[in-house]
Amino acid sequence: MDVVNKVLPESETRPEISHDDGDRERFAHYVQKDKITESAVTGNPVIALCGKVWVPNRDPKKFPVCPECKKAYEELMK
Ligand SMILES: [Zn+2]
Repeated sequence: MDVVNKVLPESETRPEISHDDGDRERFAHYVQKDKITESAVTGNPVIALCGKVWVPNRDPKKFPVCPECKKAYEELMK
């Protein structure tokens, strides 16, 4: 396969929606994209940049980005 091995950071990490019971936890957390793919196959939980662990679902609703994830993401980009 002719794969271009150049991936922008934004496509490496993308927000996913947490699916906790409490509404106060409804944030979009940043997770590595391949972890999300893996989780979709295995059903295993993923770990967000902020340390949150949950099983992502495909809820298309928009939630605010988790402030802790955003901060961690900005740190990574330095
Ligand atoms: Zn987060």
